[in-house]
Amino acid sequence: MKERINENRFSYMDKNFKPKGFSSAAVHAGHTQDPNYAHQTPIYASSTYVFDTAEQGMRRFSGEEEGFIYSRWGNPTIKEAEEKITALETFGLDVEAKGILHASGMAAISTLFLSTLKTGDKILSHYSLYGGSNEIIGKMLPTLGITSIIADLREVGKVEDLLKSDASIKMLYLETPANPTIQIVDIEALTVIAKKHNLLVACDNTFATPYLQQPFKFGVDFIVHSTTKFLNGHGTAIGGILIGRDTERMKKEITKAHRLLGGSANPFDAFLLIQGIKTLQLRMDRHCSNAALIAKFLEAQNAVANVNYEGLSSHPNHAVAVKQMRKPGGMLSFELKGGLQSGINFMNRLQMCTRTVSLGTVDTLLSHPASMTHYSVPKEQRETYSITDGLIRMNVGIEDAEDIIADLEQALC
Ligand code: PLP
Repeated sequence: MKERINENRFSYMDKNFKPKGFSSAAVHAGHTQDPNYAHQTPIYASSTYVFDTAEQGMRRFSGEEEGFIYSRWGNPTIKEAEEKITALETFGLDVEAKGILHASGMAAISTLFLSTLKTGDKILSHYSLYGGSNEIIGKMLPTLGITSIIADLREVGKVEDLLKSDASIKMLYLETPANPTIQIVDIEALTVIAKKHNLLVACDNTFATPYLQQPFKFGVDFIVHSTTKFLNGHGTAIGGILIGRDTERMKKEITKAHRLLGGSANPFDAFLLIQGIKTLQLRMDRHCSNAALIAKFLEAQNAVANVNYEGLSSHPNHAVAVKQMRKPGGMLSFELKGGLQSGINFMNRLQMCTRTVSLGTVDTLLSHPASMTHYSVPKEQRETYSITDGLIRMNVGIEDAEDIIADLEQALC
């Protein structure tokens, strides 16, 4: 029987054309022409793929022939999103990498930990991390004998001593800018020290996106994202990606872990993600310019005790942010004088900006960790993570800055 070969899956952008600009890559990278010549990548809503012959099935399973088998293992729409994000994380760098899209940021982070660490290993991380990452490191992994040392990684000098004193530390896990405190750690300085001690280094790049920061530039091994946020950009789908520089390891044990743990993405969410990424640079430029204006406005308000924004010279790690980021990002947090009740009152008075958790969307989102995400965490405990009663986290949207400022102004009084 004659086997059907997908001769029409030629690349839309000629392979010899190497885009010089980030946006060209964001629009075109990863795209292959649909066999039916659809302009946009279709949503391949198929759980499985047919074989022309049993021999072809055999070749696919043995890896002798490339091709899709089952959508938990791979899917054309998902593949495009994986290749697009990987192209952006490696854009302009002499680095090869492979990305695996997941059902959520947490699924990508779980695959990372469970595929690279074993009983007895330790993770070294910073105390300000996304709550879910903090919880998996602090509560779930210890049940498997994988423990952690949580330190203030802004004090780079102390990290070397820690690593010298404990050979069971196998991974350095970074998140910068950190959620929700906007603390910044020095990716390059920490990676240099970690590599002297043969650690794997992973960086959560969700807040920055590859447009603002490329951790591979500083030698990290893995990048994770919650694609739910700025990469999607419109709050329409949950997703995550794990990207690794060791492509052999990614193709073997990490692909294996991803398939077995089962946190696979779905093609509809991947489709939404692909559309969002195409405008990443345009959106980020606006998120960033608005955030800079709003940080300055907030800094001048009597009701505000302090503003955490890496673009302000008052930010303790402003210089590190300038060194490792293309420009300061679209997230900030600020501390209201008056504690819990002033936080609640402020949130209730908002008229245009949205009261919600999550981030990275085109509309401005505000959350009050003490009454929302961290409501059940005892005050003393959350304060050790700098999550105080009056802390407000803000995803600065792409609306007109004057309207965002007007809404904040009336809510602050
Ligand atoms: N990493 C960061 C920095 C986050 O902010 C989040 C979620 O808010 C995650 C990871 C987890 O992502 P997801 O909600 O897509 O699982």
